[in-house]
Amino acid sequence: MIECIFTIDYEIYGDGKGSLKVLVFDPAEKLRNIFKKADCRFVAFIETAELELIEAKETDTAIDDVKNQIQMFYAEGFEIGLHLHPQWYKALHQDGQWLLDDSEYNLCSLPRERIVEIVDRSIGYLRKVLRQPDFTPLSFRAGNWLMQPTALAAKVLAEKGIKLDSSVFKGGLQRRHGLDYRNAISNDYYWTFSEHVDIPDANGILLEIPTYTKMVPFWKMLTIKRVGLKGKEGSSNRKSSPWLKRIERLIDFLRFRYPLKLDFCRMTLDELTGMIDTIILEDQKDPNRYRPIVAIGHTKDLLDYETVESFLVYLKKNDIRISTFNNMYHKCQK
Ligand SMILES: [Zn+2]
Repeated sequence: MIECIFTIDYEIYGDGKGSLKVLVFDPAEKLRNIFKKADCRFVAFIETAELELIEAKETDTAIDDVKNQIQMFYAEGFEIGLHLHPQWYKALHQDGQWLLDDSEYNLCSLPRERIVEIVDRSIGYLRKVLRQPDFTPLSFRAGNWLMQPTALAAKVLAEKGIKLDSSVFKGGLQRRHGLDYRNAISNDYYWTFSEHVDIPDANGILLEIPTYTKMVPFWKMLTIKRVGLKGKEGSSNRKSSPWLKRIERLIDFLRFRYPLKLDFCRMTLDELTGMIDTIILEDQKDPNRYRPIVAIGHTKDLLDYETVESFLVYLKKNDIRISTFNNMYHKCQK
């Protein structure tokens, strides 16, 4: 059985550029309406660190709309997941620009006490926004997918009540940040883990349901839709990135096979349905196996709403349930 979980990372650009209205609120509002119309829900991975800092420093007047929107999501049955870019917590705002603290880029490499502080603070902020003093998110996605080195962060997250991680994308590799998810390629659709997010552990303390990827020849990546992505306000910082970063990224890229994420903001309808068609064929051969398929998107990438609507129609036509982690989690308990 196939079930599809839509997740959206709710955030502005990674360097702190761009407005909440354009990159977060407006696209999320359109997506919310599309999903309500189709009578289904998505998981909103709220990047709490940036929202707390933007609110504290009063740098964006749309923060109140954003907070209302998150409350609305919660009230309407959308799932509120925790997404964290810890480099925001010690950020400075100078001359109208954010200077993020890259020494805290990867939550997993910080000392235990600091991880505890950050996770407590982020959940505390969500509770405040939702006005729910005992709210605890079920699901977590690490900033830049960095859930390695795993052990310390996994333990803290589990202690704080988080049950599920969706940071892995099978086949992922970012040498610069020490991210290597190539081991996970042969893993099942979901697994539990403790020490290493990519290595299943039957007694694991967290459940991993990775973003769905397909390994494709590298040239295929070049054809993936990037429609209009350059055109959004502020744009990303790609042009200004130092040459070393760019070369490292290029080396990661020049593999024969590359993980293509099921991304409903970046792929065309044909690419999305093509990926699902392959899973449907697999499922027909072995329908008893449970196949949760996590799709990813980013509010800052969302431009083509028609594709999202058509993709939902296609899934329904194929009897594929659209769910949230909250609603499917129990099926992964073995
Ligand atoms: Zn993010």
